Amino acid sequence: MSEKPIFIQHANELITVSGGSEKPLTKEEMNHLEIINDGAAWLEDGIIKAVGTTEELQVKFSNRLDEAMIIDATGKIVLPGLIDPHTHIVYAGSRENEFNMRLNGATYMEIMNNGGGIHATTSRTREASHEELLSESKKRLNSFLKHGVTTIEAKSGYGLDWETEKKQLEVAKRLNDEHVIDVVSTFMGAHAVPANYKENPDEFVRIVTKEMIPEVAKGNLAEFNDVFCERGVFTPEQSRRILEAGKKYDLIPKIHADEIEPYEGAELAAEVGAISADHLLRASDNGIKKMAEKGVIGVLLPGTAFFLMADSARGRKMIDEGVPVALSTDCNPGSSPTTSLPFIMNLACMKMGMTPAEAITACTINAAHAINRGKEIGSLEVGKKADVVILNVPNYMQLQYHYGMNHTDTVIKSGKIVVEKGQLS
Ligand SMILES: [Zn+2]
Repeated sequence: MSEKPIFIQHANELITVSGGSEKPLTKEEMNHLEIINDGAAWLEDGIIKAVGTTEELQVKFSNRLDEAMIIDATGKIVLPGLIDPHTHIVYAGSRENEFNMRLNGATYMEIMNNGGGIHATTSRTREASHEELLSESKKRLNSFLKHGVTTIEAKSGYGLDWETEKKQLEVAKRLNDEHVIDVVSTFMGAHAVPANYKENPDEFVRIVTKEMIPEVAKGNLAEFNDVFCERGVFTPEQSRRILEAGKKYDLIPKIHADEIEPYEGAELAAEVGAISADHLLRASDNGIKKMAEKGVIGVLLPGTAFFLMADSARGRKMIDEGVPVALSTDCNPGSSPTTSLPFIMNLACMKMGMTPAEAITACTINAAHAINRGKEIGSLEVGKKADVVILNVPNYMQLQYHYGMNHTDTVIKSGKIVVEKGQLS
């Protein structure tokens, strides 16, 4: 049975973020939100059917207004549903003890090298049942939804053995089927070198490339293939092998690059034709230039820098140099345990010199491109999926200005209301 059409009217600002469906927005384009004052949108059959001023749409649909559910957005703004293109939400356990250790002086890499960090979550995730992982991850998805997020990417990488990697990817698939948020999967078997391969990491790379990646492709378990390229984890040469192996099976490359120190990860992203390079806290000038030339999207994660008390990536420079920038929470139990993408937007402004408009572009259309969905989502344009968020602020700048607060009023996913007055409906 088809749902009632939804007619949103009288939005103070209806922010369409239009014009970037073919390719991500760069430079000045990122700062130009297409805004309709007293805006309106007609949503039907899960699709955006019309966008314009309230007056225009009231005329256009004058003989159908009676059959629609009408949402009055007076005093509010309307945005495309937010998109998070980099998360690790399928995990078990929690690591507040490490947070406490760090506040007592230990570094993230010290904790990881002593069996904590990714290894601690790996142990818990290996032990967890399918059902436990599913229910823990659903709670996180519910929290994302309440923050206006309608699509996320989710990575495996807390298994480091095939059985658990597969379990994570299967859970992500079930989340996509069972939860209203769309979940796009990335295989990240090379998230860390497992303890039993510390002396022979190349053997683990062989297992990832020759055994796991073919299984991922055979089971149609992921669209993307990611690797943690960092000193002490995987070298650029090993990372290249892993990403090239995925390409043979049509897995699109992504890379965790230059997070802790400059390691030519951004350069590698450009060379292998990665869709995105993520983190980039210490990306070199040359790496940034190459990313801009090749159109590699920089997925920046200022929440991780904030939580690890590190300097943020050079977002301002990347935008000025022509890198298409997207933003993400990096939601994970060790370095960024948050689902608040709006807070990440605020950090992008405060810590990376981005403008409120650029932050919105980075969480909508550019984030859509980072997961290869630019034509379907990320803007309020006719024909796109009816993923819409209505926020309780009178203009878009207040979204970041009133920081650390959740302004979400209503969320519409594929044409259905899923959050009302800030609560799941
Ligand atoms: Zn990550």
